[in-house]
Amino acid sequence: MKRSKVKGKKETKHSSLIVRWVSIVALTIMVSFIVFSVVIYSVVGQQSLVQQKKTSTEMVVKLNESLNRIPHELQISNVVPALTPSTRNVLEGNPPITNDDHPGSAFNDDLLSSLTNPDLSVVVYNLEKEDVFDNGGPIPKFKHIKGDYSMESVYVKGHRRQIITYQKVRAAHSGKLTGYIVVANKMSYYNELMHDLLKWMVRISAIAIVVFILISYMIVRGVVRPIKEMSKVAREVNADPNSTARIRSFHRNDELQELAVSLNQMLDRMQRYIDQQKEFVGDVSHELRTPVAVIEGHLNLLERWGKDDPEILEESINASLQEAKRMQHLIQEMLDLTRAEQINVQYPNAVTIVADVLKRVAGDMGMVHQDFSIGLEMDDLPQDTEIQIYQGHLEQLLVILVDNGIKYSTTRKEINISAGLAQNDVHIIVQDFGEGISKEDQSKIFNRFYRVDKARTREKGGNGLGLSIAQKLVNSYHGKISVESVEGQGSQFIIEFPALTKKQAQTLRERAQSQKEAE
Ligand code: ADP
Repeated sequence: MKRSKVKGKKETKHSSLIVRWVSIVALTIMVSFIVFSVVIYSVVGQQSLVQQKKTSTEMVVKLNESLNRIPHELQISNVVPALTPSTRNVLEGNPPITNDDHPGSAFNDDLLSSLTNPDLSVVVYNLEKEDVFDNGGPIPKFKHIKGDYSMESVYVKGHRRQIITYQKVRAAHSGKLTGYIVVANKMSYYNELMHDLLKWMVRISAIAIVVFILISYMIVRGVVRPIKEMSKVAREVNADPNSTARIRSFHRNDELQELAVSLNQMLDRMQRYIDQQKEFVGDVSHELRTPVAVIEGHLNLLERWGKDDPEILEESINASLQEAKRMQHLIQEMLDLTRAEQINVQYPNAVTIVADVLKRVAGDMGMVHQDFSIGLEMDDLPQDTEIQIYQGHLEQLLVILVDNGIKYSTTRKEINISAGLAQNDVHIIVQDFGEGISKEDQSKIFNRFYRVDKARTREKGGNGLGLSIAQKLVNSYHGKISVESVEGQGSQFIIEFPALTKKQAQTLRERAQSQKEAE
């Protein structure tokens, strides 16, 4: 069930991330442009409309000023003479009066210029709503208004806007209604401007949206591609943990590249770990095969003959017990080996006085192996020299080396432990005078389960794990281990650790203390 579920999670075909991201960008830009366009459009429109209204109002005011001087109802006969001289001239078919006709006077006929404005259609109505004067443009319809003055904005065909202004004309001296003025402003400039503005805003918005969508698509694709690549590799490794698939370099200098490098490192580490585990399980099962076979052989023997033969019974039971003990020892060593790899996490701040541990181990080993002389020489080691290691581990290290020395000694039953401080490094040497190790084997003895002579070592109870454990321990504490040996003469195992200064040791102790308190 679980498998099919995982399998079902296929690669997203159309990257939803791209679609989502691009849609958001497009929408944001569209909304921003629409808001921006509406604001610009209405501000420009408003400004321009104010100007147009002003033109219409001025026209009406000027006409009214001329016509309210007429005391009676407006008629063709009284309207035309009431207009300015120049206007009259034009209306009578003569050229307008210019400054040249009145040299020296600043004559400027505003009414005329307004009446000749092609945008403005002017009509003067009498009380019977009959057209008594117009300037020739399309005649705006008469409409009753409530007050004396009114202005309205209307839309005519082609979405063009017009402003129509209505004004009742009253005789100046009596206030009697004499007629009506209606001025329609076509606002060609305004309508043209607004039309062009709208056209360009739509065009620019469309271009901007397309350009931004393209740009954001390219940017998002650049980000999504590495993510897709990573998820592809993750899927491959998920399907087959032994897969060698790795994320290729994106040739970019950013967080995604960093993530890819970290993921690759993690995959390599995982692979190494899997390989190590496989190797370890292989080695272990191989090592356990012999004791199990020996026990099985003895049990078979017992089954066939041993029940009646007390000698065989005794021998087989002893042999099986010995093998069981050996297996127990092997299992313990394997556990030690696995633990040795995680030591620096468990005891990060441990500090040990070297001389104390050396004395203790030498004494203990001497007690256990009374037939051996175990010497200790520490003349070159200040008594209070400290190194960064958990003391149990330093003991374990020394026991492994002394034990080996004893196991592989021949006639000269002597082990020398010596220690000294040189160039801030503590050297501990464990020397024996036994069989020694050939040059070829010296490079292999630290490998797991390696034994120079399998059969003989087995006799001595060795599993080939002691030196691997020792090496792992030393490495975990940033130390070094090496061997010097001459076949037939003996061996020297040398371990080195950096010595701690008083200050460093104090700091580590304080840290260990505060860690203890925190727990
Ligand atoms: P074992 O438990 O078999 O001793 P080690 O890892 O401690 O495993 O040692 C690996 C092999 O190195 C041993 O089997 C032995 O052949 C060789 N060896 C280790 N120490 C010594 C020594 N002091 N003298 C001679 N040979 C040694």
